[in-house]
Amino acid sequence: MSSKPEAVVKVCQQCQEEKPAAAFFPSPLHADGFTDRCKRCVFERSRQEQARREKRAQHEAAPLQGSR
Ligand SMILES: [Zn+2]
Repeated sequence: MSSKPEAVVKVCQQCQEEKPAAAFFPSPLHADGFTDRCKRCVFERSRQEQARREKRAQHEAAPLQGSR
């Protein structure tokens, strides 16, 4: 019996889609060696977090008028 490398398929915990291991980032922190979320979801999330951070920074940087 020869053990040929099977195509590893994971279900993304974010979008619940079945994707090949190539669609996930390798991660030594996870037992199977890949992150729980697919690359698309990771990108999407970091983009959303950055947008939120920029929005908040903008809000905090807003000049207070008439506070002098
Ligand atoms: Zn996903």
